[in-house]
Amino acid sequence: MNILKDSFGRKFPYIRLSISDVCNFKCGYCLPDGYKINKSDNRSFLKIEEIGRLAKALSELGVSKIRLTGGEPTVRKDFFEIIKIIKENSGIKKTVMTTNGYRLDKIAKDIKDSGLDGINISIDSLDANTFKKITGHDRLGEILRGIKELQKLNFKNIKINAVLLKGVNDTEKDFNKWAEFLKHNEIDFRYIELMQTGDNIDYFNNFHVSAKKFNDYLNNNNWIIQTFGKDAGPSKNYLNPKFKGKFGVIAPYSRDFCKTCNRLRITAKGDLRLCLFGNTGINIRHLMQTDNQIEELKDLILKQLNFKKESHYLEIGETGLTKNLSTTGG
Ligand code: SAM
Ligand code: SF4
Repeated sequence: MNILKDSFGRKFPYIRLSISDVCNFKCGYCLPDGYKINKSDNRSFLKIEEIGRLAKALSELGVSKIRLTGGEPTVRKDFFEIIKIIKENSGIKKTVMTTNGYRLDKIAKDIKDSGLDGINISIDSLDANTFKKITGHDRLGEILRGIKELQKLNFKNIKINAVLLKGVNDTEKDFNKWAEFLKHNEIDFRYIELMQTGDNIDYFNNFHVSAKKFNDYLNNNNWIIQTFGKDAGPSKNYLNPKFKGKFGVIAPYSRDFCKTCNRLRITAKGDLRLCLFGNTGINIRHLMQTDNQIEELKDLILKQLNFKKESHYLEIGETGLTKNLSTTGG
């Protein structure tokens, strides 16, 4: 039973857990100069035993799904051990991850063998040059090879996310390329509207574009909106019987986006974040140190939930503590 409920009646069966702030990519909207150590915060990233206890506490609070994210989660050497401890010992039903797909061709088999229940891969463009311009890395080929490898291994639940960027990947030609991809691949592809963070204000002003342009494309090309499942994410999905895959749109600036919020976030250093953009959130790591603290940890998480606000207030430029999404996992 899910007992994580806030004062607006929203339930939280889903946690995004960042396991590292470190990332090897330089996405223009996130870490344009690459990852830099935060010298004013020398806390280490959560250790595997702490993650194990946290997952157990969350599962006892009715959380059924954990998404591992970052930074880039796969840069952690103990990445597969983290999946194992969550899957084997915590009671969490689904463990999934969001990745930039770095070395996906090399680790596809390990991913399949780990029993991971789903993977979201970020690919901002199917054009290798555009991909390189956005991420600072010429790695589109290895990511696409990795996806093929996962498909060969019969790995289900593959999703691709791209941030919609004005003048970069938002033309009909870009949309058609993805449509062609979805014709042959049973994969969900979703565009995310660019979000403003503390660090990316100029980038945001230059490249933010409303998802309406893509919505218009979907409407003009016979894509039909699908209603949501119970633990579905924030994506509005579209189906077309001629295509194996689905399109989706994540539009955080749309009215009512926060009404269906069903996730909380925990940073790689153990801060509970009630909202991707909230100013609220405290460190809960001190209660992950021994097995007999689990009741206290659950209690603290429950109490904190009372402070969750109704909306992110992004539309009025509130970005809260969020300098970029590499610390809170997008
Ligand atoms: N490194 C992994 C990756 O890129 O998939 C996981 C972490 S990343 C922060 C998670 C997701 O957030 C990615 O899909 C990324 O494109 C997205 N993201 C990062 N900054 C964003 C922003 N300012 N607006 C919208 N999406 C953003
Ligand atoms: Fe790294 Fe992901 Fe941020 Fe890109 S979006 S810089 S891959 S954390």
